[in-house]
Amino acid sequence: MSAAQVVTRFAPSPTGYLHIGGGRTALFNWLYARGRGGKFLLRIEDTDRERSTPEATAAILKGLTWLGLDWDGEVVSQFDRKDRHAEVAHQMLARGTAYKCFSTPEEIAAFRAEAEARGSYAVFQSPWRDADPATFPDAPFAIRMKAPREGETLIRDEVQGIVTIKNETLDDMIVLRSDGTPTYMLAVVVDDHDMGVTHVIRGDDHLNNAARQQMVYDAMGWAVPVWAHIPLIHGPDGKKLSKRHGATGVEEYQAMGYPAAGMRNYLTRLGWAHGDAEIFSTDEAKKMFNLEGIGRAPARLDFKKLENTCGHHMSMMPDAALLHELERFLTAAGRPTLTGAQRDLLSRALYCVKDRAKTFPELIEKAHFALTSRPIVADDASAKALDAVSRGILKSLTPRLQNASWTKDALEAILTDVAAEHGMGFGKLAQPLRAALAGRSATPSVYDMMLVIGQDETIARLEDAAA
Ligand code: GLU
Repeated sequence: MSAAQVVTRFAPSPTGYLHIGGGRTALFNWLYARGRGGKFLLRIEDTDRERSTPEATAAILKGLTWLGLDWDGEVVSQFDRKDRHAEVAHQMLARGTAYKCFSTPEEIAAFRAEAEARGSYAVFQSPWRDADPATFPDAPFAIRMKAPREGETLIRDEVQGIVTIKNETLDDMIVLRSDGTPTYMLAVVVDDHDMGVTHVIRGDDHLNNAARQQMVYDAMGWAVPVWAHIPLIHGPDGKKLSKRHGATGVEEYQAMGYPAAGMRNYLTRLGWAHGDAEIFSTDEAKKMFNLEGIGRAPARLDFKKLENTCGHHMSMMPDAALLHELERFLTAAGRPTLTGAQRDLLSRALYCVKDRAKTFPELIEKAHFALTSRPIVADDASAKALDAVSRGILKSLTPRLQNASWTKDALEAILTDVAAEHGMGFGKLAQPLRAALAGRSATPSVYDMMLVIGQDETIARLEDAAA
């Protein structure tokens, strides 16, 4: 690893599903690293044994995999590194940047109560900070960081600018509890340091933690990473995103059938901008993504824009990739997989369905004519078009199709003729044709459907409908 190599990480706590905000944080870190020949690491922050579950870890990995965000090396478990965290706490003791604190929970509570009664800061000040080791009792102790009491801590943040925190507002935080377990604040720093993380890109709900974490870097004499705290995602109304706005889990978007490339594009633009770039490929995003483009105001989720972006990606995607992702969607959704014949017909149909769909269920619905098989069952809306008159017209049409050459021009000539013979516009003729060929009233063009399913199948479907 060269000294200049970028290393980013995503460090979720496995306590639920992969939130869309977490997905975006992971994406930003991934783009930043991948666009710079760097590494993107994944660390599961599972130190909270009560709240962490293997199911949540599995859900996070599944969500990242669906989004196409691959990580380098093994997934790191923070809990597994607890001995290393404790080791660093003891190194801080040895360096004199931490101390043993023998205060009991009762003493700390009493200190706080007294401070509050006086109306002063309730920041705990341990009497052991500068105590003579000769006075140490034979009792359990926590290890506290000897935080600076005066002055300020400056966080140079790539998004938020310079953030100043008064040191008097921060206590000598515990880094190792009296039971020997490390605190979260210590664990994050030790892990980021050991993993060689150069850039910490995460939600701005961690901005306050950055001040305390930076003190740990300083206490160990370690290089502080580049900080980039990104504003959280808000709902369309500008309020903190919640379930009531709609889906908040990455898995839910997968289940709704959004294409992953569209989702990546949308999430990249959610709180980041580069000139007027709106629709771009993932490769383009890797090249463009930077920290300067991250906005300081919270981005608002915009479902219409998400759909639009996804629609663009559906139509941009090469057929083979589209088909592959569609099949993955079917499997994930527990829907029947495609038969060989369906796959063939669908590949031939993609050109006329892929620029109309924003999600895979929409694509499947548009491609119904290619996926279904005889007898075609017309849905209620399209069945109305198959009255006696229309069935008569379809009947008169089939002999002419027998001898037709199967090109769009030839078919257009025949259908225009037939419509004229019956004194109707082509639009009127198209309705029963859609019903006969697809059993739907919203379909690709009649010609496209006929060309995709072929001559024999077209005639058979029209004969079925006419009968
Ligand atoms: N585990 C923290 C979270 O899920 C993230 C910590 C970090 O990125 O430093 O919010």
